[in-house]
Amino acid sequence: MEPERNICVIGSLNVDLVATATKIPVKGETILASSFAIRYGGKGANQAVACSRLGIQTNLVAKIGDDDYGRQAMEKLAEYSVNTSTVIKEELESTGLALIVVEEETGENVITVVSGANARLSSEDVLRHEEAIVSCSICLLQLEIPLDTVKKTIEIAKRNQIKVILNPAPFQLLNDEILYGIDILVPNVLELEILLGLHIPDSTWYSNDDSETAVIFGLVDRLQRKFQNLALVITLGKRGCIVCPHMENKHLNAFLIEPYISTHHTVDTTGAGDCFCGALAVGLMEYGNLLEAARFANIAAGISVTRQGTQESYPSREQVEYLLK
Ligand code: ADP
Repeated sequence: MEPERNICVIGSLNVDLVATATKIPVKGETILASSFAIRYGGKGANQAVACSRLGIQTNLVAKIGDDDYGRQAMEKLAEYSVNTSTVIKEELESTGLALIVVEEETGENVITVVSGANARLSSEDVLRHEEAIVSCSICLLQLEIPLDTVKKTIEIAKRNQIKVILNPAPFQLLNDEILYGIDILVPNVLELEILLGLHIPDSTWYSNDDSETAVIFGLVDRLQRKFQNLALVITLGKRGCIVCPHMENKHLNAFLIEPYISTHHTVDTTGAGDCFCGALAVGLMEYGNLLEAARFANIAAGISVTRQGTQESYPSREQVEYLLK
């Protein structure tokens, strides 16, 4: 079958229940919250929204529980035009939830995550929705679902010559089979450190000194000598990203909106990494070149950090293209 210009995201879907209070309660204490909000997330759902907002038809293979949270999350995804016909409902299980208390003054928080239906997204589910994967030209994965499910997806994608992008977050140890199977790995600094089994001083990562960036390039080369088909894009927060196709690495500064809008300031970086990954997949589809794709993603994520929220902060295609010129 000829793949279409679609993206398939296989991943998690969560609902965040966020209470803001004057303090975080200690063990056994009950406090009154000053406000409450429901937010929609999960790395899979976020990345699917980012792709869809950027104008690409996106399938999401995910799992919800049989509850109102799951139904509301589905409505939200439909508002962003994500194809949810491949989101499976798991009976007798809860939708993935994050119970969050935020301290008003400091912004510090405590979070309890209920993996719920996300932990039940199985290899069989992926096989059942193989069609949704093989009809796409790019497959986008993260690690908030079981690793076996990730492996099965990679196997299906490889068999059908579909490009696989893996955002290894939250980090789990990856075996060689996974690293040989993917085309592009998109870790942040911490995830790359764990992957390489090294601790790299902050000064190296966030330095503007080219010689130190060269240290990072050296580490990536080591990885690429073993996994020769593996390209990497390392996200560096406000320092942008490092793009490593094969043996021609490059650092891209973060995109600051300042030259275009008089006051650039970072408002909320939550979900910037997910915006970046979704936009990278879209950019790759549009330009067929990793460096161009990373430029596109850097702008999309750069816009998202100047707005409150996660999915609602993701830009449209027009907004990114306006700044790309
Ligand atoms: P994660 O949230 O996964 O750790 P990062 O913090 O590395 O991801 O951010 C992902 C991308 O978001 C960066 O590569 C960059 O493009 C963009 N970004 C993050 N923080 C900023 C910022 N303060 N200003 C501009 N762009 C940013």
